[in-house]
Amino acid sequence: MNNRGILICISGFSGSGKGTVVKRLLEKYPGEFALSISSTTRSPRPGEKDGESYFFRSREKFIKLIEEGEFLEYAEYVGNYYGTGRSFVEEKLSRGINVILEIEVQGALNVRQKMPGAVLLFMVPPSVEELERRLRERNTEDDATIRSRLEQARVEAESIDRYDYLILNDEIDKCVSRIRSVVDSVKVSTDVMSEEIKNIKIGLEEYLKKEGD
Ligand code: 5GP
Repeated sequence: MNNRGILICISGFSGSGKGTVVKRLLEKYPGEFALSISSTTRSPRPGEKDGESYFFRSREKFIKLIEEGEFLEYAEYVGNYYGTGRSFVEEKLSRGINVILEIEVQGALNVRQKMPGAVLLFMVPPSVEELERRLRERNTEDDATIRSRLEQARVEAESIDRYDYLILNDEIDKCVSRIRSVVDSVKVSTDVMSEEIKNIKIGLEEYLKKEGD
């Protein structure tokens, strides 16, 4: 059987709750999923620790890492670079652990090019009203910022149909179950099972050849 892990890209509007859902997924299925910690050139926000939220890098260092081929994908988003380290992802996948990338649209589409087996999920809140409520709940966002996040969401919505699955985040646990179901289905898809399909054909050929002798 194919024992490689599945690479899962999760994107969603700011306020879709993807961070909370991913945290719950990791807690609920220990050892099955790993979250990749990205590198970024943006400054840490209050409470963010280097090596936990992100690896915070200077622009010079980030460019050097690009040149050295360290990133599976990277993108520039609102003036800062963000990138996914290649070695962490490879190591986990080879050990059968599913890897989650919480990344924006351009990065997810780049991953699709480089890793055809990756599955792309787009997470949405139940309504625009709920999205706005979640953004307001953060308390840190003023009206103008909320407006600009909603406008950004409108741009991102244009790319949703390039994703594989739309994941509704109405309740955290329901949303976690939806992701788990998708991953379970992908694991038995004919794409992921191509090696097994080859072996079934070889097995039949060999059996019939022996019978014919
Ligand atoms: P924030 O600055 O709010 O933490 O993240 C901004 C955006 O960058 C979010 O949509 C987040 O998912 C995305 N992002 C975080 N890490 C990466 C990464 O490694 N690659 C790409 N392409 N996007 C990322």
